[in-house]
Amino acid sequence: MVSTLNPLTKLLLAAALLSSFTTSFASNTQQKLVSQSSDIALSGEVKQGGLMVGKTSPQNTVTLNGKSIAVTSSGDYAFGFSRDDKQSYQLVITSVNGDRVTKTLTPEKREYNIQRIEGIKKSIMQPNPKSVARAQQDSKQVKAARKISSELSYFAQGFIAPIKGTITGVYGSQRVYNGVPKNPHYGLDYAGKTGDPVKAPASGTVLLWVPDMFYSGGTMIIDHGQGVSSTFLHLSNSYVKQGDKVKQGQVVAAVGKSGRATGPHLDWRINWFKVKIDPALVLKIQPLH
Ligand SMILES: [Zn+2]
Repeated sequence: MVSTLNPLTKLLLAAALLSSFTTSFASNTQQKLVSQSSDIALSGEVKQGGLMVGKTSPQNTVTLNGKSIAVTSSGDYAFGFSRDDKQSYQLVITSVNGDRVTKTLTPEKREYNIQRIEGIKKSIMQPNPKSVARAQQDSKQVKAARKISSELSYFAQGFIAPIKGTITGVYGSQRVYNGVPKNPHYGLDYAGKTGDPVKAPASGTVLLWVPDMFYSGGTMIIDHGQGVSSTFLHLSNSYVKQGDKVKQGQVVAAVGKSGRATGPHLDWRINWFKVKIDPALVLKIQPLH
C-alpha cells in the first residue's frame, strides 16, 4: 500500500511514524527516571512488628496493597507490620500529575521467645464469668479507642522511652500453659517501682484512661496520629484525663501493679490501628525532613 503513494506522502508518513516513536520512547524514559531517581522516603525497619514512617508531598496519594493510607497536611504517613506478617507489600505514591513511584516491602521474619509451662491449676487458667464479662468490656473499649484516626503527625517526630528501667519483657514472646498457647506478649516491659513517673513517648492526645481494667489495671491510650497510639498498662495513677493534649516527655502517669500484674512494672505498647507494633523498633525510627 505504501508503494502506491507518491514520494512526498511517503516522506511525511515516515516523519509521522518517527515522531510518534520518539514521543513514546521519551515518555517511557521519563517514567523510568521518575521511579528510579525519586526513591520513597521511609524510616523504620521492614520487619515483623515494625512501624514505617514516610514523608511525601501532602498532595500525593499513598496506597499499600491497594488500600489508601492517610497523609497528614505535613506529608507524613505511617503503616506497620504485625507480629507474624508474611505478606509482601506494594507501596505506591501517586502525584497529582499521575506519576507513580512503587516500592516492594517484605517484612523480615523474626524468631520469638516461646516458654512452655506445665502443671498450672485449672482455677487460675479459667477466670470466673463476671471477670470474663469485665475483660470483654475492657477489650471493646480499647479497640474502639485504637480505631480513631486523627490528623496529628506526632508519630513522625521520633519516640523516647517512657521510663528509664531495665527491660524485663519483650514484644512477641509467648507462653504455652499446659500445652495451650496464650496470647503473645505485645508490650515492652520495664522494671519500675509503684509511683515512678511515666513520660509520653511522643506528643499526642489522651484517648482513654481507665483506672481498673480487669487484666491491664490502670490503662492509658495516647493518640500520636493516623492510627499510631501508645498504650500503658498496670498504672497506679494518671496525671492527665481523656482529651488532654500531651507533649513528648511530659509525665502523664505513674508505674503500678494494677490488674493482673505479678509486680510493679510498666508495659508499653504501640499500635497502628489494630496492628500490634514492637515499641523497641519504634524507638529506633529517625524523623524524616
Ligand atoms: Zn507486659
